[in-house]
Amino acid sequence: MNRIIVLFIFVILVLSACAPNKPAVTSAAPGTVKFTKFPVLEYHLIGRPEGRWQRTPENFAKDIEWLYENGYFPVNLRDLLAGFKGLPKGKIPVVLTFDDSSSGQFRYLPDGQIDPESAAGILKAFHDKHPTEWPLRATFFPLIETSAPDRNLFGQKGLEAKKLRQLAVWGMEIGTHTYSHDRLDKISAAAAARSIGRSIDTLTKYVSREIVSISLPQGFYPADLSVLNRFKLVAEVAGGFNPVKFDPLHIKRIQAIDSEWQKFFGRKTFVIY
Ligand SMILES: [Zn+2]
Repeated sequence: MNRIIVLFIFVILVLSACAPNKPAVTSAAPGTVKFTKFPVLEYHLIGRPEGRWQRTPENFAKDIEWLYENGYFPVNLRDLLAGFKGLPKGKIPVVLTFDDSSSGQFRYLPDGQIDPESAAGILKAFHDKHPTEWPLRATFFPLIETSAPDRNLFGQKGLEAKKLRQLAVWGMEIGTHTYSHDRLDKISAAAAARSIGRSIDTLTKYVSREIVSISLPQGFYPADLSVLNRFKLVAEVAGGFNPVKFDPLHIKRIQAIDSEWQKFFGRKTFVIY
């Protein structure tokens, strides 16, 4: 009788251990986990308090920890073009994307250190703890010139080049989000091409690698799609997971806020506000 009870408890434990957080995984055998879909996460402001467009440094750090513990492996958006080459066996790719280049994404302190509470600082610290399992990969979509100085190339005047070069040296990707957060559906094709062209001209002064990815401001496509011909990857603002056979010109994203973590990942969040 006791044995039956022990067996029963064992089965319950095994079942509960297998149950949580597996929306992107199909196979169960160890080492042969295969994914059918993958997330491209979308971050905006990193700062306090937590909000619709802002993730606190603490919650961002917890996001990374959660992804790591649940078998995710960071890649750049452009890496997807290589067909998941180099992805460690059993891992699920995740792309962290950052729109609008606010200082919370990458900030230097007065002493020249990277602010450990900025996204760049948090990612670097996590990478230092897990050098091979969490490489420095993420895709940034900066703005060049807007009416909000904090969002112009990560906010700190004079440090724009240093930050862009550092991101590139780490192996992260720089994409574009247009010059001034321009709604591509609301301006002429010529104006849209000019906004994108000026943005890329500025960014490539600092980053030698070709810019192949764009995040559409507010997710709006231009009426004349030839404006986007120079890109290999176009990121939207919503849509959920991408299938393994994804459409590079319609990359769906999931905003990394509590409600979306719960909806798409079934994650039980432990939120710090
Ligand atoms: Zn934006």
